[in-house]
Amino acid sequence: MKLPADTLTAPSHPIARLPAEWLERVAAWGEPAYRGKQIFDWIHRQGVLDPDQMSNLPKSLRQRLKDEGVGWPIDIVSAHESADRTKKLLIGTPDGEKVETVLIPQLGDERLVTQCISSQVGCAMGCVFCASGVAGLKRQMTDAEIVAQVLLGRRELGPDQRIRNVVFMGMGEPLHNYDAVARALVLLTHPDGIDLSKRRVTVSTSGLVRQIDRLGEDFDGQVQLAISLHAVRDEDRSTIMPVNRKHGLAELTDALRRYPLSKRQRITIEYTLIQGVNDSVRDAKEMVELLRGIPVKVNLIPMNPISTSDLRAPDSSHVTRFQEHLTRRGLSVFIRKTRGDDVAAACGQLAFHGDGPRSANP
Ligand code: SAH
Ligand code: SF4
Repeated sequence: MKLPADTLTAPSHPIARLPAEWLERVAAWGEPAYRGKQIFDWIHRQGVLDPDQMSNLPKSLRQRLKDEGVGWPIDIVSAHESADRTKKLLIGTPDGEKVETVLIPQLGDERLVTQCISSQVGCAMGCVFCASGVAGLKRQMTDAEIVAQVLLGRRELGPDQRIRNVVFMGMGEPLHNYDAVARALVLLTHPDGIDLSKRRVTVSTSGLVRQIDRLGEDFDGQVQLAISLHAVRDEDRSTIMPVNRKHGLAELTDALRRYPLSKRQRITIEYTLIQGVNDSVRDAKEMVELLRGIPVKVNLIPMNPISTSDLRAPDSSHVTRFQEHLTRRGLSVFIRKTRGDDVAAACGQLAFHGDGPRSANP
């Protein structure tokens, strides 16, 4: 991995510092190096961000940390648990913005939790089927705000649960906030901190080609990549995803072929099924052609309705038939169950508070 030495930009907030950056800082204060390790351990391994609770630090150092602004950069405004035990946390920032993060226990083994996190307040990409896109970009989230979602998420778990996967599938386009996301990835996977496996952290993108290359280079292809495909012909994709007018399908699939995937790893293709838009037999056939030679697994997501659009999912038997057309031609295809529907918490369904989409998918 080339990061962090040469590419990472400076942290936005003390809680986004890496151990080496803490070592430097405590040295400047005349403290021994191990204090830097202790601070990183409190914040990232133990999830304690209040300096007063960092019991093995001397009082003077705790005061320094308080003066530096060590503390929670975001907080939980409200939490809603749905019937299927998916838990949506509404996150508030000091400047009054709101984003959402969702904890999704694995079906069949609730101890293993996937957390879906946000990377921007809103999104600039303007996909027509997406509530975040319709709202536009309000601001970037900081590295600290991105990581703190997971630190807060961990506090909401039951005693035998742990976060095993983190997916950047909440609000925002993570690769449009590359620097903050890259630092967050280093922090989330740091062995002395949260210690997630890189392969269990998924960055989902609508197709920012240069940043896909950069992610592959910076993390040696170890971070799991998910691509929001949603259409297989340029004219269709450009209609529902404006990003395609800049980076068309040929450019995107070239980037996927270049992505330095390790053996046995596959790129996730997300395909939100929209009735009459991208759900024909021809679409299925052309998807197989488009993805030929790229190691992929396909996730079909029946579209969750949003208030600003008439687009909707095909009925479930049609979804199954679409899946069959793909599997018959050799693709591995999963239908992503929309979980947490009753609190509008399903991943990819996150919107501004009060403007939440309503789901018609039972
Ligand atoms: N911006 C990134 C990640 C966030 S969106 C991206 O687009 O990949 C996470 C996933 O949810 C994406 O695949 C997105 O296309 C999908 N999604 C957005 N709106 C949706 C909706 N209304 N119904 C179903 N999936 C949706
Ligand atoms: Fe942004 Fe992703 Fe929504 Fe498109 S689907 S508007 S890229 S969050």
